Amino acid sequence: MKRHYLFLLFLLILSSCRNDVLKFHFESYVADTHNDVLLRVMRGEDITRRMDTGHSDLPRLKEGGVDLQVFAVWVNPDRYLPDSSFIRANEMIDSLYAVATRAPDRISITETYADLLINERKGVLSAVIGVEGGHPIENSLEKLEQLYGRGMRCFGLTWNNSTDWATSARDETEAKDIPFKGLTPFGKSVVRKCNELGVIIDVSHSGEQTFWDILETTSKPVIASHSSVYALCPHYRNLKDNQLWAIKANGGVVFINFYAGYLDPEFEQKVTSVEERYRRELDSLKVLYGEHSDEYWYRRQALLEAEIERISPDLDVLIDHIDYVAKLIGPEYVGLGSDFDGVSALPKQMEDCTYLPAITGKLLERGYSKHDIQLILGGNFKRIFRAVVG
Ligand SMILES: [Zn+2]
Repeated sequence: MKRHYLFLLFLLILSSCRNDVLKFHFESYVADTHNDVLLRVMRGEDITRRMDTGHSDLPRLKEGGVDLQVFAVWVNPDRYLPDSSFIRANEMIDSLYAVATRAPDRISITETYADLLINERKGVLSAVIGVEGGHPIENSLEKLEQLYGRGMRCFGLTWNNSTDWATSARDETEAKDIPFKGLTPFGKSVVRKCNELGVIIDVSHSGEQTFWDILETTSKPVIASHSSVYALCPHYRNLKDNQLWAIKANGGVVFINFYAGYLDPEFEQKVTSVEERYRRELDSLKVLYGEHSDEYWYRRQALLEAEIERISPDLDVLIDHIDYVAKLIGPEYVGLGSDFDGVSALPKQMEDCTYLPAITGKLLERGYSKHDIQLILGGNFKRIFRAVVG
């Protein structure tokens, strides 16, 4: 009887601790700087309703306590180059406006810091438009200004593909015979135009030379909207220590990507062995949909889901990346850039955006102060948004 009583007491303490974590999480401002759910909207999915597929939708973002979401506008270069990526980017922006029009009490497109504060007061999700990859401006500063006019407030100069004026991390690392590295004079004028307009420059996916050229050119703080730590997982998409120091010196912030392959150095090797076992099915999907199509990506995802979950790292591995940056350059320079709905594998206990409070719990467990946790959860992005966008 006594033992039973002690067990109940233990459960009570545990749940009250959990309630404290949840209360603190929901009181805090939470910003996530990278989410690809617009790709699902473009496939006809209604994110105003709760779904049981994918990583996010409006109800689940609310359940995860998210106050601000940067929605990535990513245009597949294999499909829309050379001449329709600007149109496609605009269509994706249209799709976000359509969602915001249908659910004005839940989501609002945010173009200024004042908008952000109003939304925060009303409990409405601030939606920030972030274009991922420079190809949609089609080598035109006018088109860059037009995207600003449509609400773009974050701009990643490259995705995995380089543009005519900026080289990507993938190309600088893996491509042979690239004609140049870094920013061309036009690339530098893109940086200056972003500074002038009040668009946050995003260095995620940029090659190292492009990264250094951006930092030399920009007069405003930059972000890495979804990049993790190279010292913990040496992938070309991650940032080396000297880059982290440079972001601190610039006053910028690094938002940690949740993709298992950028967190755990052994993960991609494990995926390759899973793919070997599913070679025949994957080959059929490639024939049916084309290897570089969005549809192939979604079908592959569905096929391998259970296997990938099994080999994914624990949530602590993600926390290690946040902790590394916070310890190296300070908690003022790190945040969350999940890449929900844009990646094929997430850590265990982070299956979708409703699990975000677990990060708050883990940081409290590791001894972070509430002040520092609030910077990491959203305070740091607020600071950048205010300083650059105004
Ligand atoms: Zn990306």
